[in-house]
Amino acid sequence: MNCRGYQRALISKVGSEPAEPAETDELTRHHASCSACRSFAQRFEGAKDLLARPAAIEGAHRPPSGFAVRVVAALPERRSPLAWASLRLLPVTTALALTLLAWCWLATPSPGELWSQAGEDEVLVWVSREGG
Ligand SMILES: [Zn+2]
Repeated sequence: MNCRGYQRALISKVGSEPAEPAETDELTRHHASCSACRSFAQRFEGAKDLLARPAAIEGAHRPPSGFAVRVVAALPERRSPLAWASLRLLPVTTALALTLLAWCWLATPSPGELWSQAGEDEVLVWVSREGG
């Protein structure tokens, strides 16, 4: 029997019928010869004991009812200075952004305005420069 087989057999024994005598002999021999599996068996038994405990002392380590609610209620309120500032500055920032947008919209001349403002000679010079 190898280590993997030993450990699987040990785990599968939990809550099941006792193993066959031949298998028990193999387990015993491997247990005697392998220190890693002896350590595994010891840890496994400890874990089984821990898992069996809560049923025996149920309620012994449970907090009183309403404990979590009282803890949460006692926590200080979280206040982020950044959140406070962003809420206070949001209307100002929005107004500034809208003002800039309106200014950009109004300050940009339409193509018709540009055509009427520029003399015909300027337009011809501009077109000839663009093409060449
Ligand atoms: Zn082993």
